[in-house]
Amino acid sequence: MKYVYDFAEGNKDLKDLLGGKGANLAEMTNLGLPVPAGFTITTQACQRYLTDGEQVEGLGAEIDEHLAALEGAMGRRLGDPADPLLVSVRSGAKFSMPGMMETVLNVGLNDESVAGLSRQAGDNDRFAWDSYRRLIQMFGKTVCDVPGEEFEDALHEAKTAKGVTDDVQLDAEDLRALVTAYKKIFSKHTGQEFPQDPREQMDLAVAAVFRSWNAERAVVYRRQERIPADLGTAVNVVAMVFGNLGPDSGTGVAFTRDPATGESGIYGDYLQNAQGEDVVAGIRNTIGLADLEGLDKKSYDELLQIMATLEGHYRDLCDIEFTIERGKLWMLQTRVGKRTAAAAFTIASQLVEEGMIDLDEALDRVTGAQLAQLMFPRFDLSGDPRPLTSGIGASPGAASGEVAFTSARAVELADEGKQVILVRRETNPDDLPGMIAAQGILTSRGGKTSHAAVVARGMGKTCVCGADALDVGRDQFTVDGQVVREGDVVSIDGTTGRVYPGSVPVRPSEVVQYFEGSLAPSTSRLVGAVDQLMTHADSLRALRVRTNADNAEDSARARRFGAQGIGLCRTEHMFLGDRRSLVERLILARTDADRDAALDALKPLQRADFLAIFREMDGLPVTIRLIDPPLHEFLPSLEELAVKVAVEHERGQTDEHDEQLLAAVRRMHEQNPMLGLRGVRLGLVIPGLFGMQVRAIAEAAVELARDGGTPHPEIMVPLVGAVQELETVRVEAARIIDEVVGDSGVDVLIGTMIEVPRAALTAGQIASAASFFSFGTNDLTQMAWGFSRDDVEGAFFWRYFELGIFGISPFESLDRDGVGRLVRIAAEEGRAARPDLKLGVCGEHGGDPDSVHFFHEVGLDYVSCSPFRVPIARLEAGRAAVESTGSDHR
Ligand code: ADP
Ligand code: MG
Ligand code: MG
Repeated sequence: MKYVYDFAEGNKDLKDLLGGKGANLAEMTNLGLPVPAGFTITTQACQRYLTDGEQVEGLGAEIDEHLAALEGAMGRRLGDPADPLLVSVRSGAKFSMPGMMETVLNVGLNDESVAGLSRQAGDNDRFAWDSYRRLIQMFGKTVCDVPGEEFEDALHEAKTAKGVTDDVQLDAEDLRALVTAYKKIFSKHTGQEFPQDPREQMDLAVAAVFRSWNAERAVVYRRQERIPADLGTAVNVVAMVFGNLGPDSGTGVAFTRDPATGESGIYGDYLQNAQGEDVVAGIRNTIGLADLEGLDKKSYDELLQIMATLEGHYRDLCDIEFTIERGKLWMLQTRVGKRTAAAAFTIASQLVEEGMIDLDEALDRVTGAQLAQLMFPRFDLSGDPRPLTSGIGASPGAASGEVAFTSARAVELADEGKQVILVRRETNPDDLPGMIAAQGILTSRGGKTSHAAVVARGMGKTCVCGADALDVGRDQFTVDGQVVREGDVVSIDGTTGRVYPGSVPVRPSEVVQYFEGSLAPSTSRLVGAVDQLMTHADSLRALRVRTNADNAEDSARARRFGAQGIGLCRTEHMFLGDRRSLVERLILARTDADRDAALDALKPLQRADFLAIFREMDGLPVTIRLIDPPLHEFLPSLEELAVKVAVEHERGQTDEHDEQLLAAVRRMHEQNPMLGLRGVRLGLVIPGLFGMQVRAIAEAAVELARDGGTPHPEIMVPLVGAVQELETVRVEAARIIDEVVGDSGVDVLIGTMIEVPRAALTAGQIASAASFFSFGTNDLTQMAWGFSRDDVEGAFFWRYFELGIFGISPFESLDRDGVGRLVRIAAEEGRAARPDLKLGVCGEHGGDPDSVHFFHEVGLDYVSCSPFRVPIARLEAGRAAVESTGSDHR
């Protein structure tokens, strides 16, 4: 196996093997740009080193060979006392990764070669000793874990002793003394002298880069960014060039466009007489790149030309590190640069205008996650507000409002027209009305996958969770001794997790205003770019995008955002609030007549709900799920009720209603409600319940049709596992529909959710009773894995992330191997049995970019997601279409 590549042997497509830095150094070398000579030790060598330990067979010999070639090319030997070659040893993984070992510069210097270096530089002792002290500092810190502050303190002392403030004011003697001080620090911490053998310095630095792959910060970062743990890092050994040789030297960074906005222009910083990280370390004041022109016109012109070459070559924004050594420009790094979400859209669209890329590729270069960022409102922080505390930014956005500590209070305040922040220790399904009413949700417990976080993201609502410094009480919370009471105003930032006292002004997002139809594409370059790419995505995508919406307001918004119908209308929210008492009546009914009366009271309310939704979605399909959750969710909790009844007994004031309710709650109590009496099972057990809903749906549709509308209702039966369940419901529903619809011309489809694994596995049978399948991937995930979402996230998911069993929660992004396989089986077998079967997905995965790509691959007809995710799903469905046409531009 070949472990070492000369820069001339690599290219930009070898990032897996050479890491990003090495691959791009090779690319620049082959473009004929001025890159110092060097070589790259591969990521495979690192993988070997990390699995087999110290000695990687054959690696030493290969390094010898390449070092000899480098020495030949440079006409100098590494660390030669008379005329030393110095090198930098630089880490460089496939993905750029903070937390990895930093670079060691000036490797090859020792007590003797420092004099040789000085002679090379025209008897510049100051430069030589400055380089040596930097080597000991960087080597000590990064290779041998010597605390960096000690070196910094010593440097600071040297400056103070001399009464100067700037490094460059230290002369050769000062720096020589500093080297002595640094060596002492080094041996104090390592128990060894600073290594004088140049090759030993290099080998130790290389091994340290390898090991730094597993440094804790790197591991944490990889987990967060979902970078695989086994890639390893490459190591680049590069001949040194010196920006610290005097005022005609320096070092800088540059971008070919503004990475914040995407605007073209000259962006970068330059620092005279400096080496390496001095530019970004903020040691001295840098100058803007444009001012380099006045200092060194020749290098400046060359740099601009190289930047144009690189942009033309990479056809994208590049960032660059360069050094000027006595008027000669050297390129030390380039890569396709990181950018903000806004810049990503703007640049992609500009590059299309400039003819560098086509629209397909532009679409490939932006992501749904970036679009999501552009849709969240932001705080205007120009007043510099001080945060009260911070938690986890669980659902981005910016929200201010009066604090409410209960769901009921949040609803009341909202009804008074107030903005509300619901503050809870943690939330549960009972808090839903309050969460809907609130502008934002703040919890003191739970992480990114807690109930609050998941529900808030689904609703596109701002949420900060796990703010554990908050002590949340009944009607106030305290943080650091400060008390915030009900009705006080706070502001929460769901992106940064910060919580501010009082109200911070909010800017609405331009992009949302554009989607809402209140801003024209010509408003700004960014909006124009978003419009251009959305239009292109819509023209390409095979997947249709529907929305999950339970009311007219959400339906209307989703439609403005481009929804092509409703994929999931949950009916249980329609049983909450005032209607709870009707549900109670239904549950407590002793006779058929009682029960029918309760259902009769519910039906007109339901019909009105459906009619409002059908009107908003006139002409588009609306999938309504028959009632799904266990009915006891609509009753008071067992504990609460038991206490109430006990108190009543004690006082001798027994209440018959409460007694009956308690008995019902006891009777209906379930060990595993998730697997209990819910979904289709309710429909089979409680006579008339589904029938009432079906009738309400059909009547609403007929009413709209009579008013000249074109309703397309689709009735969806939840939790089916066997065709017989569905068939029983279907026969009864079809009878009712026929009766109601008559000759009105309204067509009502009946289909089912596929959310029980058995349904997926018997999809061929089930298709005989269903006109459509809608994958309920939330439940399908719960049941495929055998864990209850509400219970597991806090209990053990953290450990699964730690062990790498999940890279991402299977509730957030579809588990392709397991749950995805069930989806595939059901799609294939369902279609085989019934070619016109409509296939969709209505779990939260419908708005997750990666999952959307999967659903495209499987060939579903549509995805459905919350209104705010609709544009994201549209964009990703377009991207998936580009991907699958196999056009490979890069
Ligand atoms: P990072 O990945 O943190 O950017 P680099 O390997 O790019 O680390 O190096 C850190 C700094 O040292 C950069 O400013 C880089 O330009 C500079 N540098 C690296 N190698 C050399 C070299 N051979 N000669 C001069 N400067 C170098
Ligand atoms: Mg760099
Ligand atoms: Mg379900």
